[in-house]
Amino acid sequence: MVKYLLKCKECKQYGLNNPENTAKCSHCGGQLLNPRPSKYSPIDKYGKYRREYFKEDFKKRFEKD
Ligand SMILES: [Zn+2]
Repeated sequence: MVKYLLKCKECKQYGLNNPENTAKCSHCGGQLLNPRPSKYSPIDKYGKYRREYFKEDFKKRFEKD
């Protein structure tokens, strides 16, 4: 399990955050970003399904009228 996998903003390559936390791309020196927004925390691993559920729920409501 890779904990600190980051994605380069410039060249879209994946890289690892280094101990200095500078998060620089080893390919182009660009800024590395976390590809996953923090809202997708492991605690919220069912959030996707919950959102799908609410999406269906809203769709039904809209289709009713
Ligand atoms: Zn890069």
